[in-house]
Amino acid sequence: MNDTSRRQFLQTTAAVVASTAWWAVEAAQLNGERPEQDASVRVVNPRDRVPVSFIIDDSTCLVNLAYFAMPQFSETWPQRLDYQKPWATWPREIPDSFVRRFGEWCAERGVRGKYSIVPQPACVGWVDRELPGWSHRQLEDSLQLVRELMLPNWDIHPEMATHTRVIDTKTGRPFPERGPEWMENWQWTDGKSVDQLADYLTYSLQILKNAGLPCDGITTPGGFAGKVVPELAQATLQSVRHVYGSEIPHYFKFLYTDDRSVVPRVEYARGLDGNDPECVVSIIGCTGDWFGGWDGAEPGSPDQFITADLSSGRMVDVIEKQEPAIMVCHWPGMYYNGTEHGFKVFQTVVDRLHQRFDNLHWMKLSQISRYWAAKELTTMIRINNDISFVAPFSSPDFTLLLPGAEATSIRLQHKNSDILLRSIPERRQLTAGTCCKTNDGWLACFDLPKGQSVLRMSNPEK
Ligand SMILES: [Zn+2]
Repeated sequence: MNDTSRRQFLQTTAAVVASTAWWAVEAAQLNGERPEQDASVRVVNPRDRVPVSFIIDDSTCLVNLAYFAMPQFSETWPQRLDYQKPWATWPREIPDSFVRRFGEWCAERGVRGKYSIVPQPACVGWVDRELPGWSHRQLEDSLQLVRELMLPNWDIHPEMATHTRVIDTKTGRPFPERGPEWMENWQWTDGKSVDQLADYLTYSLQILKNAGLPCDGITTPGGFAGKVVPELAQATLQSVRHVYGSEIPHYFKFLYTDDRSVVPRVEYARGLDGNDPECVVSIIGCTGDWFGGWDGAEPGSPDQFITADLSSGRMVDVIEKQEPAIMVCHWPGMYYNGTEHGFKVFQTVVDRLHQRFDNLHWMKLSQISRYWAAKELTTMIRINNDISFVAPFSSPDFTLLLPGAEATSIRLQHKNSDILLRSIPERRQLTAGTCCKTNDGWLACFDLPKGQSVLRMSNPEK
């Protein structure tokens, strides 16, 4: 290999590595504090169901991010053929009529997940001010649609500021320098400190806050922060708490499609005994974008998620392991330049999942984060038939398996309240306030209050 072709090879390899952001180099993460938890008490999945969720990247108001990002990406990496697609022939808009149909279809089936709103999409404009190419009325209507239709079932994330050029947070304009060192997706974050990243995240979150959208987390665009993951985790914790006062910030950076665990990671936990406990949760996707690609030009198939005979596929594998099964897509791929190919793949996947499984629990990423923070950070001490909790965070549907426990009744006591858990015959019917005797032991499901509480199991009279 001569010098030129070697350089080209290295550049191309670097570009490929950088663009496969989610499975970027896994940096050592700090868990932080962990409390005492009695080995005979097991926190299982909420309501003994498997959490499922859907991550939508690269969405925003009106702007088709693929159309506007492609020329900026191809200028950054002129050798890369995957950035030479005919973007100029694509629609510049993903219309709100599509958002509405998608959102309504999902709401009817209980689908939940995360929907990005890129705050300054590809430098086209600012979702809190003006989107050149659309009237202010159209922008306002688009934001209102997100607030009304999407917010109940979807977390909103910034996907940093532009998903393309890096913004000077002092001026709100892209830096004049060009190249991968000045693109969010690539090398700009290399070597950046927690404070530098937190400044950039704060800038991005503030635009969404101005636009009236709440956030508990962030999504990294492409390779953003791939080499500074511990710093990213801490910057997320700081900036989301600073801008929104969120109790449990989370971030989406990684997805694994091999046999690694995709259980969320609760990181940088501290102050668990005090008034201001904190942690940040890394949410991990379990599929690639096998819907329609990031640009809406790579047709996917439902079979990779779950086959037509419902017997196999990546989602089946993860659900059977009882780990949260979180699919990942890109909004331009769902719209697919108007043919909606990605959306059709998704509809088939959801229908098949609901045919195959009766134990799924659709959750937002913030709900999954809260559950895992409570699961890992709640002190649980057992003395005979009493289990005492000290919970830094409350959690709905907190579900325990108590192997071998003998009990005729189970109650939860917290401050002045004393709730008898209603015994039900079928574990599939578990909801907060119920318990169920199974072959594995008692399952108890309740809304875990913040602070101290006690679960009391009463023995049969001997
Ligand atoms: Zn993205």
